[in-house]
Amino acid sequence: MHSEGDIINEREFSVDAEEIPMGRKFERKIEDFSCENCGTSVEGDGYTDHCPSCLYSKHVDINPGDRDCDCEGLMEPVAAEVKKDEYRIYYRCLDCGYTHRVKSSPKDSFEAILPLLSKPIPDK
Ligand SMILES: [Zn+2]
Ligand SMILES: [Zn+2]
Repeated sequence: MHSEGDIINEREFSVDAEEIPMGRKFERKIEDFSCENCGTSVEGDGYTDHCPSCLYSKHVDINPGDRDCDCEGLMEPVAAEVKKDEYRIYYRCLDCGYTHRVKSSPKDSFEAILPLLSKPIPDK
């Protein structure tokens, strides 16, 4: 949850505000990381926060890109669906059970997405 203090801090650090999509809270922090599941090194582009090979992610965001969550559990891809020519990947945090959904990146492995398409979409 955000306090007033958090909101002020975020404004200070939003250096490229002109790139924020309309009305959406989305900070860009470009980070490279290694996948904790399969070890692939992932070149951060400021948007993708999951591994393109196995699709695993890390529980670091409350809002996309904000890195405000200190759980840092491994997020397991549990399902996927196709919406308007793009894939959505559903995740569940292995540590705290938090679930969320992201758009897949064009770099994501289709072989990794494919089996997820037949999995049930989590309710929440
Ligand atoms: Zn991986
Ligand atoms: Zn978590």
